[in-house]
Amino acid sequence: MIVERFQLTGKNALVTGSTKGLGAAIALALAEAGANVVIHGRTSDPHDICGRIREFGRRSVFIAADLADGPACLQLFEKAVEALGTIDILVNNAGIIRRSPASEFPPQDWDEVIAVNLTAAFRLCQLAGNRMLERGAGGKIVNIASLLSFQGGVFVPSYAAAKGGLVQLTKALANEWASRGINVNAIAPGYMATENTAALRKDPDRSRQILERIPSGRWGKPCDVSGAAIFLCSPASEYVHGHVLVVDGGWLAR
Ligand code: NAP
Repeated sequence: MIVERFQLTGKNALVTGSTKGLGAAIALALAEAGANVVIHGRTSDPHDICGRIREFGRRSVFIAADLADGPACLQLFEKAVEALGTIDILVNNAGIIRRSPASEFPPQDWDEVIAVNLTAAFRLCQLAGNRMLERGAGGKIVNIASLLSFQGGVFVPSYAAAKGGLVQLTKALANEWASRGINVNAIAPGYMATENTAALRKDPDRSRQILERIPSGRWGKPCDVSGAAIFLCSPASEYVHGHVLVVDGGWLAR
């Protein structure tokens, strides 16, 4: 039955930045499809996403790690393996954005965005990928990209650079690991109503301009990425490698 190929029963997932926003929606969706999930954030799980996952009858633990700090990736990954035994699915979702004109963009904002959105994602891909290669049982890696993987944006140079790089990284890893049963893909969400876009939604002009350009006529909700995430983490996407699945209400088609 084809619908069975969308099941994640018994799989173990690590979703970074899953205390809220898109990461929380992805973690809950993977759990609903059958996976045990490690929830991750910088300091706490304020919305008790772990508790909601346990209500589905899955295992879930919260692990804190600041991904702006290089060695934290190894600690996070090792603790995740210790908690669940193996990691079959990695979703690199944690991400930050800093806005400022390019001419005065603060170097620390550049460094922090590249560290969290690109360098930490690569390091976690490497750690999870190596473990998957050793086990020989394949695996799934999904990187959360952005429309700014394709477009330059305005006042967000480090974010556009990091998200463009994340898509190229996705393709590079897919080329190396596809033959070993590891699917590396990306999801590029459009304009979604989360904390990440709070500043845009507060600005009446920017908010109106954005809405006018979205063919579906609304901001995305976190749960709009759930189906794409389940698909790319499940056996249903076995022959999908290096793909960027855009979930944007039609923005890029415009
Ligand atoms: P969000 O609501 O701000 O949530 C971000 C998550 O990342 C939180 O769980 C946060 O954890 C975690 N995080 C941030 N910095 C971290 C750090 N240094 N170390 C560890 N964890 C950190 O963001 P979102 O809108 O859901 O975005 C999720 C992903 O989707 C990001 O990669 C973002 O770039 C991408 N995206 C979002 C949109 C959009 O419209 N919202 C569009 C395209 C792509 P704590 O708060 O617990 O620290």
